[in-house]
Amino acid sequence: MPNSSAETILHNGVIRTMDAANPVAEALAVAGGKIVRVGSWTEVEPLRGERTALIDLGGRMLMPGLIDFHVHLLPSMIARLHTTAIDTADDFDTILRKIADACTRGAGRDWVVANSYGALALQRMREPGALAALDAVSGDRPVVMQHLSGHGHFANSAALQIAGIDAATPNPPDGEIVKDADGRPTGLLVESGAWSVTDAIPELSAAGKAEAARASIAYLNSLGITGFADASASLESLEFYKALDDADALTCWAAFHLALSPTCSGYAADEARLMREQRRELCGPHMNADFAKIFLDGVPSLRTAAMLAPYASAPDEPPVATSLTLDELTEAIADFDRDGIGVKVHAVGDRAIRMVLDAVEQVRRRNGPGGPQHQIAHGQFIGATDIPRLAELNVLHDMCPPLWHPNSASLTHERMVGAERYATVWPVRDILAAGAAVVAASDWRTIAPDLDPWEAMCGLVTRRDPTGRHDGAHAPDQAVSVAEVLPLYTTNPAAAMRLGDRTGRLAAGLSADMIMLDRDLMTIEPLAIAQTKVLATWFEGRLVHGSA
Ligand SMILES: [Zn+2]
Repeated sequence: MPNSSAETILHNGVIRTMDAANPVAEALAVAGGKIVRVGSWTEVEPLRGERTALIDLGGRMLMPGLIDFHVHLLPSMIARLHTTAIDTADDFDTILRKIADACTRGAGRDWVVANSYGALALQRMREPGALAALDAVSGDRPVVMQHLSGHGHFANSAALQIAGIDAATPNPPDGEIVKDADGRPTGLLVESGAWSVTDAIPELSAAGKAEAARASIAYLNSLGITGFADASASLESLEFYKALDDADALTCWAAFHLALSPTCSGYAADEARLMREQRRELCGPHMNADFAKIFLDGVPSLRTAAMLAPYASAPDEPPVATSLTLDELTEAIADFDRDGIGVKVHAVGDRAIRMVLDAVEQVRRRNGPGGPQHQIAHGQFIGATDIPRLAELNVLHDMCPPLWHPNSASLTHERMVGAERYATVWPVRDILAAGAAVVAASDWRTIAPDLDPWEAMCGLVTRRDPTGRHDGAHAPDQAVSVAEVLPLYTTNPAAAMRLGDRTGRLAAGLSADMIMLDRDLMTIEPLAIAQTKVLATWFEGRLVHGSA
């Protein structure tokens, strides 16, 4: 075989390259895991040798593999494999039936862990008698269930007892053990108030976790995802994914935002020091851990997001305290910035978002403007005057989870902040127009048990519920086109992962990370984007899902 011939040529397709110099092509050649040519059949055909595999795309769309820039991958896959699924739309009685059923499996004091309840159930959990009702169906079995945001839990008496929580237990910093009028715990645990319970859940074995890590990559590939950023990574996560990478089984580019700040759940000082010092050695060739995570506020559904104006649903409540002051946040980011570490700050409320921008502004002044890109995770309530500051300060807007269209979670947010405030939420069009670096991500598995990038994309284009379960549209004037949405899942996250010259586009010299779809996103009705099927996924030229 002459050196110049390709191993594989894909042809007869609509190849949407995401490469501005060459946006649409019909054929693409791969050799050594990399794209060697993209263009017309006439341009690519000369690379066909005797042993070149020819793949006929049959007129279908080929595009770069998607990159999900905000997932909690290992814990989410463990939850998918090992917990009781409850739907965020389930009412409390439905949840009780599911818990009762789960309690018939396992034995003794085995834990029942369930994900995730939403607003409807939370309403009942706040009323007297909810804990007794849960205890009645679960008996001695410890039960804990998580709110869809991950920032709140509901535990039964057996779980509270194991965790050592009783009437005398004080609230931990940045958290609450909710108590009734008589001072007894109600089972509701807000933010860090749940940590003593979640820490008491026995751990899955190392082999079980390794299997979950492997399954998580297969799951991503099946969805057309060939890159991810773990938004809050532990040392353990790094080790499991490095083991996969060393075995040539990490068929996904991977970035890790390390839990290096005491504001992260699961933070341990020794582990954080080790991760920071050895972050390069802890990574395989497809991994990059030059990122850190800081949690600054909470979520609107629990009224723990730091907003400038009071919550419409509780106008007299005192303002939410952020986990760090502006000075503390500035110091923390400045320290990471000097070390070349990009910081992702969880900031949902407009007050928290402004604090991040104020902090980065001071950091740029202090350390110079050439430091790494920093990030605001979520950022849904960004104020109009803060939007231009994203580009000015080189702060990436990591938009997630997909709440830019009506669904049970976004409607809860609307109830909390009021319809008027919610009508201005997720100003995606304005943010893009201001020239900000933006990615769209899932935050899997906060609002849904399944990761579905196509529904999320559809929601960005239509601002309507792609499933048809909820009427109306959230701020439809902020809808964007398919052409504007695709970079949020490809080129932009690739650049944010510092992989812009390796993946995210289909161009000569880049990794052959690509997906074949059952429809051409650019020519179909926007609502049909939600049903997109990924027929095949290639990572470095290897078929890792489906067939072609
Ligand atoms: Zn997250």
